Amino acid sequence: MTVSLIIQKYGGSSVASTDHIRRVAMKVASTKIQGNKVAVVVSAMGRQTDQLLNLAAEISNNPSGREQDALVATGEQVCAALLAITLESLGHKAMSLMGLQLPLITDNVHTKARIIEMQTERIEHILSEDIIPVVAGFQGVTESGCISTLGRGGSDTTAVALAASLNAGCCEIYTDVNGVYTADPNICPKARHIKIISYQEMLELAGLGAKVLHSRSVELAQKYQVPLVVKSSFGGDKNTWIVNEEEVMENSIIKGVTLEKDVSKISLIRVPDRPGIAHKILSPLADAAINVDMIIQNASIDGYTDFTFTIPTTDLDKAKTLIDEVAREIDAQKMLAANNIVKVSAVGIGIKTNPGVASRMFHSLSAENINIEMISTSEYRISCVIEEKYGELAVRAVHKAFGLDKDNKEKAET
Ligand code: ADP
Ligand code: ASP
Ligand code: MG
Repeated sequence: MTVSLIIQKYGGSSVASTDHIRRVAMKVASTKIQGNKVAVVVSAMGRQTDQLLNLAAEISNNPSGREQDALVATGEQVCAALLAITLESLGHKAMSLMGLQLPLITDNVHTKARIIEMQTERIEHILSEDIIPVVAGFQGVTESGCISTLGRGGSDTTAVALAASLNAGCCEIYTDVNGVYTADPNICPKARHIKIISYQEMLELAGLGAKVLHSRSVELAQKYQVPLVVKSSFGGDKNTWIVNEEEVMENSIIKGVTLEKDVSKISLIRVPDRPGIAHKILSPLADAAINVDMIIQNASIDGYTDFTFTIPTTDLDKAKTLIDEVAREIDAQKMLAANNIVKVSAVGIGIKTNPGVASRMFHSLSAENINIEMISTSEYRISCVIEEKYGELAVRAVHKAFGLDKDNKEKAET
């Protein structure tokens, strides 16, 4: 019998205390006892990453990315070492490994670095010695030797990258929900469990706010065809498999509804409307690795236009400084910035072939008296920017409008 390698990733809530860590250690040990090889990836305990970021914020409102990464990476280091200690106490050989010990090499875009290479020689050797490697997720090392991190939620990506590089049989993501739902079950109690979902749809959901999986992890899983499953670390048999589109038998028009909170907008008012202006405004942001999402340029009046775009709130301060400079250069009347907005999206591969989906979404929002500030669509999704205070209500309204509610009998299983 060939021994298969399983990568198990445990998120913050699954390792929130030493009792939790003990339970995780038992799960890891039992996977091994059943005859598998197992490598583990962990997040920081509970809300430790937030707590570390708050400490930095007490000192500075603009810490450098390098030092912020050095700080938050400690969360995963603590947890990896504690889990290895627990496994040892249960009589298993285990060894914690930091990103720089693997090493997991990344680019140097601190706080949202991308993986360049996962070197596997060391971990393969550890596995061959029958030792359980416990990898600190989320962190890597740049080519110049600085500690980097992969963006919030990035431990999922560490796990999938490891599974891909080691050609593991499967990558199991253990979290505080028993799989992927048609909306965040914590804000939409009528959300339904999804048994199986395509990489493509999961990628859209994750990229639009379904933080149950880090979107880069889904991208990597699809690219390297890693079998990926989301399970609860608190027990139960339900789970969600993320697979190729052809393997998903049931297809609904809309697979899920998401809420993205990390959204801010910047508007430039009365911009002289001439060729090259959009490039002038957006290229400093691209140079600073700030991801611009929705863009709206109003119709020109008397040679002037208004230009609005959204960016992650985490980049707002940096973007404001850059755009303030551009505003002066291009002679815009003023710059406005707001972070009291959210993005609600309906996602599904049926959108491209079903006219009327957008109007159904807009109608459900207007029925709740919610004003839509910005709209964007693609073949897989429709997104609306609305006022933050209506975010959760909007998710529930759109979820219901597409017949996704649990008690809605006219829709088949997702
Ligand atoms: P972990 O710390 O284990 O990585 P996360 O908090 O990152 O856990 O992700 C799990 C959370 O994702 C759930 O508690 C849930 O609130 C949220 N979530 C958002 N959208 C969805 C969805 N569509 N299905 C399931 N969970 C979702
Ligand atoms: N601890 C990191 C975070 O809170 C990474 C992760 O949990 O995946 O974002
Ligand atoms: Mg997570």
